Amino acid sequence: MMKLDIQLFAVPFRKVSKTRKRMRRSHNAMEVPGMTKCPKCGEMIKPHRVCPNCGSYKGKVEVAKEEK
Ligand SMILES: [Zn+2]
Repeated sequence: MMKLDIQLFAVPFRKVSKTRKRMRRSHNAMEVPGMTKCPKCGEMIKPHRVCPNCGSYKGKVEVAKEEK
């Protein structure tokens, strides 16, 4: 016997244009990582990290900067 297996899906009424797709995805980008200013040397650094420029953390010198 013929078996009719008809499945109905929700079908988009029309194609989503490039512009509409890009507008929707405009909020999907990753956020820019936060940067703070080193209190010692004023360099822009990542927070909660020892400053790569002067080797200080929270204004105190934690790591002696290696000099060649
Ligand atoms: Zn610094």
